[in-house]
Amino acid sequence: MQTMYQQMDADALAQAIEALRAQVEEVKARGLALDMARGKPSPQQVDISRPMLDILSSDADLHDGNVDCSNYGFFEGIPSARALASEMLGVPAEQTLVLGSSSLLLEHDICGQFWRCGSLGSEPWADYSAKHNGETVKFLCPAPGYDRHFGITADLGIENVPVPMTGEGPDMDVVEAMVASDASIKGMWCVPKYSNPTGETYSEKTVRRLATMKTAAPDFRIFWDNAYCVHDLYDETDDLANIFDYTRGTENEDRVVAFVSTSKITFPGSGVAFVGASPAVIAEVSAFLKMGLISADKMNQLRHVRFLPNLDAVRSHMKKHAEFMRPRFEAVERKLAEGLGGTGCATWTHPRGGYFVSFDGPDGSAKRVAALCAQMGVKLTPAGATWPGEDPRDTNIRIAPSYPSVEELEAALDVLVLAVKLVAAELAAE
Ligand code: PLP
Repeated sequence: MQTMYQQMDADALAQAIEALRAQVEEVKARGLALDMARGKPSPQQVDISRPMLDILSSDADLHDGNVDCSNYGFFEGIPSARALASEMLGVPAEQTLVLGSSSLLLEHDICGQFWRCGSLGSEPWADYSAKHNGETVKFLCPAPGYDRHFGITADLGIENVPVPMTGEGPDMDVVEAMVASDASIKGMWCVPKYSNPTGETYSEKTVRRLATMKTAAPDFRIFWDNAYCVHDLYDETDDLANIFDYTRGTENEDRVVAFVSTSKITFPGSGVAFVGASPAVIAEVSAFLKMGLISADKMNQLRHVRFLPNLDAVRSHMKKHAEFMRPRFEAVERKLAEGLGGTGCATWTHPRGGYFVSFDGPDGSAKRVAALCAQMGVKLTPAGATWPGEDPRDTNIRIAPSYPSVEELEAALDVLVLAVKLVAAELAAE
């Protein structure tokens, strides 16, 4: 589609650019300092979990049933926390681990385990290249996606291969064709609900195809990071099928390793993290991680399950979070529609949950837009971060609306709109 600037004659375009540049100078003079880069809740939003901190006082009972949370033991997690993990991950409690406070760290450690040791008797991924004519190990990366996922695999020397998103998850025709013929593709990153950053939820068909597709690599693993599984904005929610329903009891039983944490439910960085997989994969992951840990912070687990004893309690807590998030997402939609609707300069997603909106400007615009926003005092997630390697068309920007106040967010979006218009106009003139 053509932008409105591409349709202008040379004089009109020159005038438009001059007017936009003048507006940019005005904004620069205002000395703004706004941040739309960080996918973290606002301080007021974090405060809604403060009552949890009063639960474990010095005279509290520190037992979960007959488990003493004040001492070593129960590496796999305390029973109540594993029961909650089971509800959130969609596997029986025996197939869960509650470990530490970061799902990303678990993803990092487990990916590193498969790299160094292999999985369930297969050769270590690290050895693949030497045994297969120097061919590199590859991971599929739905893109735009989460930069920290891409960082974990890139850091191990795995080649990240982008796969387009469709609005209902990754393009499964592309995924199926690649994994069926290439044994060097050992796995895939997925954020299946309210994906980071597009906000889309994988359809039932996508989930089923991921679970049942034929892979040339027998040790193919899906890292199913369900970070936003309960992060709905509205009563009408996106529904995600339980991928384990399609793998249980099949030859693909060991394919999926799922992750969730309470980082964006209670306290970012101080929540609890869960992992779920087949009995065999949970046993091998557990055996590996036990080498470096006697038992996780069970006091924190206890505090969490007393505050949020089950999935229903989590869902009602999330409704309080939604009160903060909804006006911010609606401000993004309103400002972008007012500023850029009908200009042909941009498209963006309209999530019903999660933490991000994915924004695309004209080809070759994203880096320039981010730099121009920075000059006007608005920080964005670095352009291109949503792609493994380079964003091939340099269009994508991740909008993170959660942290600023609504007023700050609106001001930041005005700046983004202005930057996109000026860059689109300058591109039309080049
Ligand atoms: N996974 C996804 C998809 C995320 O977006 C984030 C944080 O933004 C994380 C994991 C980090 O989770 P944790 O704090 O549990 O490591």
